[in-house]
Amino acid sequence: MKAILDHVGIAVRDLQAALAFFRDGLGLEVHASEEVGSQRVRAHVVPAGESALELLEATAPESPIARYLDKRGPGLHHITLRVQDIASALDQLKRRGIRLIDDQPRPGAEGSLVAFIHPSSAHGVLVELKQAAAALFESRAASGRSAASPPSAHAASASFSTQDVVTTLQLARRLTLGSIELISLTDGFFRLDGGAMFGIVPKPLWERVTPPDQRNRIRLGLRPLIVRGVRTMIIDAGIGDKMPEKLIDIYGIDRERHLDHALADAGLAADDIDIVLASHLHFDHAGGFTRRDEHGILRPRFPRAQYIVRRGEWDDANAPTARTRASYLPENFAPLAEAGVLQLVDDDVTIMPGVRVRRTGGHTRHHQMVVIESEGQTAVFVADLLPTTAHLSDAWIMGFDLYPTDTLKAKQAFMREAIERKYLVFFEHDPAVAAGYIGERDGKRVVESVL
Ligand SMILES: [Zn+2]
Ligand SMILES: [Zn+2]
Repeated sequence: MKAILDHVGIAVRDLQAALAFFRDGLGLEVHASEEVGSQRVRAHVVPAGESALELLEATAPESPIARYLDKRGPGLHHITLRVQDIASALDQLKRRGIRLIDDQPRPGAEGSLVAFIHPSSAHGVLVELKQAAAALFESRAASGRSAASPPSAHAASASFSTQDVVTTLQLARRLTLGSIELISLTDGFFRLDGGAMFGIVPKPLWERVTPPDQRNRIRLGLRPLIVRGVRTMIIDAGIGDKMPEKLIDIYGIDRERHLDHALADAGLAADDIDIVLASHLHFDHAGGFTRRDEHGILRPRFPRAQYIVRRGEWDDANAPTARTRASYLPENFAPLAEAGVLQLVDDDVTIMPGVRVRRTGGHTRHHQMVVIESEGQTAVFVADLLPTTAHLSDAWIMGFDLYPTDTLKAKQAFMREAIERKYLVFFEHDPAVAAGYIGERDGKRVVESVL
């Protein structure tokens, strides 16, 4: 059983005193708190490297945390270990005579499955096992939601009374497509000007769909996709960690939870990636391709991977114009050629069995989407052809696009195809929806979200 430390839960009686230690003393960042009403618990998440601490406060006297504090006083409440397959982990523990609080997994936060191990079998520590959300869809028509049941208020049995507590945002969301596994990851969020995101669409129309902040920016996701077939591939790699302060501010980059956390959540390390595939080389897609080492030298972020880029895109990125220069940052791609890990492809080729690229043009001249097929099912990573679910209408095209009339043609053709053939579409920049099916209702395009 491979287990990764997800978080450590700490029962806190005096929050201010706890903050004085964890935040002011240790200098850790404390996230906004989350209240878990059904469990009468408030959780303050404190990221610490790949894992986190969770400061748990009782919000009512009958809260399990209040009972815990009465019995044992403040301190370590539980540790949570993430496993790939919680059912087989529980079987293995049962065979060894380990005492479990839950002998079957139960629904936890955000579609995860959890089960507690009794402290009497775990050296006095309450151990929670967690399997991150899994959504399996058997038929193309079926929604993939079946496996991701809503959190339940079901209480743990046994005298050791405890509850699962809500953790932070879901970092890795997975489903299977035939024999291929797809895992949507997050590299956090960023913000772009709402006007630029919707091109010619007047603000009174787009602001109703995506309200801007005071600086007229809208919040966008960064969602690279892992494709696991005969090899393990990542499509795009987020915005990365090389942006200077000024641009972090301008683009409102929020990477409190980023690609490293998401990969860990998916049970993957950088070394597991065989192929990195670029939709195009803009900084919000290729930023995570490279990273500075401890000497400040730029290196490929995935040391074992071959990086695959379309030749036309590579050429355009290396000969930017005044219009494109701010989006093509050489630090994201030049080191790949230097390290000898770059592979340029010319056409709509198959990258690995079941995965091929298709040029869309429009956004950049050689922008491409990725089509994934297995056992009669098709998923498409459309990248900036359809950045969010707010871009379904024909004319809602980004002002950033270099060839908007080409975008329009590619989009209209893709929409027909996606609706007819029931493609599962991945939205790289949607702040909430990672993937869904596009359909039509009352003459309007809609997305039935799956992830
Ligand atoms: Zn782009
Ligand atoms: Zn983009």
